[in-house]
Amino acid sequence: MIRTRSAPSPTGFMHVGNLRTSLYCYLFAKKNKGQYLLRIEDTDQTRFMPGATEDIYASLRWAGLLYDEGPDVGGPNGPYIQSQRSEIYNAEVSKLLNEGKAYRCFCSPQRLEAMREEQQAKGEASRYDGKCLSLSKEELITLEASKAPHVIRFRMSEKEYKYMDIMRGELAFPVGSADDFVLIKSDGFPVYHFANIVDDHYMKISHVIRGEEWLSSLPKHLALYEAFGWNHPEFIHLPLLLSKTKKKLSKRDGDVSVRDYIAKGYLPEALLNFILLLGWNPGTDKELFTKEEMIEAFSFERLNKSGAVFDLEKLDWMNSHYIRGKNISELFSLSLPYFESAGLIVKTEDPSLWKTAAGRNISRNYLEKIVGIEKERVKKLSDFADTDRVGFFFADSLVYEKDLLFWKKMETAQVVQNLTQAKILLEKTLETEFTKEHLRDTIMRWTAETGIKNGEMLWPLRVALTGMKASPDPFEVADVLDKPMCLARLDQALEKLT
Ligand code: GLU
Repeated sequence: MIRTRSAPSPTGFMHVGNLRTSLYCYLFAKKNKGQYLLRIEDTDQTRFMPGATEDIYASLRWAGLLYDEGPDVGGPNGPYIQSQRSEIYNAEVSKLLNEGKAYRCFCSPQRLEAMREEQQAKGEASRYDGKCLSLSKEELITLEASKAPHVIRFRMSEKEYKYMDIMRGELAFPVGSADDFVLIKSDGFPVYHFANIVDDHYMKISHVIRGEEWLSSLPKHLALYEAFGWNHPEFIHLPLLLSKTKKKLSKRDGDVSVRDYIAKGYLPEALLNFILLLGWNPGTDKELFTKEEMIEAFSFERLNKSGAVFDLEKLDWMNSHYIRGKNISELFSLSLPYFESAGLIVKTEDPSLWKTAAGRNISRNYLEKIVGIEKERVKKLSDFADTDRVGFFFADSLVYEKDLLFWKKMETAQVVQNLTQAKILLEKTLETEFTKEHLRDTIMRWTAETGIKNGEMLWPLRVALTGMKASPDPFEVADVLDKPMCLARLDQALEKLT
């Protein structure tokens, strides 16, 4: 049975790189009718961030990457949380101690530091010198009885380790690639390497998929599997995510956590599709993949060896594609939180009614119409509620310069005449007929009959309704605003001109 796991550490909000690892683990497992598990690697108490574990769950749930064996699916065993598995690690380390494959080290941090500095000064790689290996039985008994603080170290084998890597071919790690590294720290918690391999073994993980930064740890892991006499899983190390300047993607390059992308209004479909192609290619020019298509197409053979550049323009393009594929009702629900957080509307006691900051009632229909107008233009859900774009729909009176009402070289009298005529025509239109189609017919008929240019009517009318240099066409806007608000805005424009 193929079993994969992602094993994020809750040291910060879930990184997009972790989401990519989880996606690849998920796809490979699902493609092979296997299982995808989640493990929280929280043994480094100094780096633990409160809220980070919850953020991992929330990010995976948002992305629809549900793990098997966990609360989301009601499984019995998961998710696996390392801080709750100390007994397992203690039992395993005892085996190694008893077999002489691990030993207690009582060296003080000061001694280790001095040793490190000395090695550095000589240009040598820093490594433990094995001092505590030569402690006599009596010394050990006395030290342990005195409860002297200590760590447990692995006795690294003096041999070359080799691994056949799917992407990189044979990897050889010469003797001395790792020193006698720590397994259990003085606080009693295991280090990453130890807990990681013990868990992968007991969780029956067949394929470890993780970031390239762990490649250099491989000899330690291979040596540990060997010491326990366990078969090791396959290891797949993914290339780094790179910024546009080809450096490792970091906070300095902008958003790196999944929650940042959720907040900006990226859809899970888009973010997953985008990260799918950061490190893997389908071998064709197909770029858009549904989750089912991803599962179908994914394979390790098509993983890229080199780092993948995080290109936000591509993500925006994919996001607009997935936004356009949704219906208005879905987009209404998805964009509602953004209208609220932008401060354009606030909830009322009536769940189908909102209010603007100035107290004007806003219905679901009103918001859906805005969503309908913007759907083809936006890149992100937050764009639906971008005040620079749609603020005029929620404002009571508009602030703009009178000059904006003039199309090309129009005279004031002409602008006044056209806006006055538009007002007359709008006034005559019944509320029930106040639709974009009807308004367009009415106004454009008058424009044609009078012989004025379209722009001479459309431009001033549009500016009067929106106060903006660029905006949707006036009939779409009028349809949303409704008759009284349109008339009030035309009055406001005429006042500016007279
Ligand atoms: N906790 C490690 C990380 O966050 C997991 C590495 C692994 O998958 O082995 O990268």
